Amino acid sequence: MDLTRYVNTFGKAMRAKYGQKVHKVSINASFTCPNRDASKGIGGCTFCNNASFNINAQQAPSIEQQLCEGKSVVGQKKNAAKFIAYFQAYTSTYADVNVLEQRYQTALNTPDVIGLSVGTRPDCVPDAVLRLLAEYQQQGHEVWLELGLQSANDDVLRQVNRGHDVACYKDAIRRAKAYDLQVCTHLIVGLPGESLEASIDAASMVTDLGTDGLKIHPLHVVKGTQMARQIKQGTIPNLSQSQYVDIVTRIIRQAPSEQTFHRLTGTANKDLLLAPDWCVRKWSVLNAIYDELAA
Ligand code: SF4
Repeated sequence: MDLTRYVNTFGKAMRAKYGQKVHKVSINASFTCPNRDASKGIGGCTFCNNASFNINAQQAPSIEQQLCEGKSVVGQKKNAAKFIAYFQAYTSTYADVNVLEQRYQTALNTPDVIGLSVGTRPDCVPDAVLRLLAEYQQQGHEVWLELGLQSANDDVLRQVNRGHDVACYKDAIRRAKAYDLQVCTHLIVGLPGESLEASIDAASMVTDLGTDGLKIHPLHVVKGTQMARQIKQGTIPNLSQSQYVDIVTRIIRQAPSEQTFHRLTGTANKDLLLAPDWCVRKWSVLNAIYDELAA
């Protein structure tokens, strides 16, 4: 199974650009989130339990240590020699720009780290942050701004307590593109209150707005979230693997060839995952996407 036959994956795009394997190493740089500390909201997004997707979320070692260990693990597993420091946990632009500069620079000072991928919310990208990222890009680093939108429907965003709306995302991507930054947009398929078709429209909308990359995953409900309580009440629809595969393949088929897919599915620690159970079988989902594309 070679998805790159049909999909411009992030790995494929990096190999074309750098002539070798480049992989992201996830790090937790001890940021927090404005949707948790009451500056934008409290309680966070109803689906969010950062520990479910970031192994270092509780007690993060230093950035240097995380990168050193991550490089070793990813390097062996993926046979990669160059890396991108992926600031994944929480909101990785949520600090004074001097603090951001110090943490990003620490990552860039690490041997074989050729760039940054910074995950954040659309309401946390002031121009000072975009300027800093653009400077790194001008210095020749590979830089990606990863904006979590999740849904292009304001009612859905309200329901999941995102604390920002679609207009906020539109403003963020417009300003990021004005700095010529590469943007990857995150979308979730299967959020309550959203039709599956709406995810296809959302992907189309963000493509039209200039996103260079897409990261897509199915809604998965994990312990320790507000959704974990809602699922017991039966208010969260159960997304099937075949429904998900159908939506993702349609998004891929409608995307322009240069669109870079950073992720086509998501998984969670099986001790935390409540539903849907097929999410833990990442390779089975990817194989099904491949089979559908090849059909
Ligand atoms: S998903 Fe992101 S924005 Fe939402 S609460 Fe979690 S860390 Fe904050």
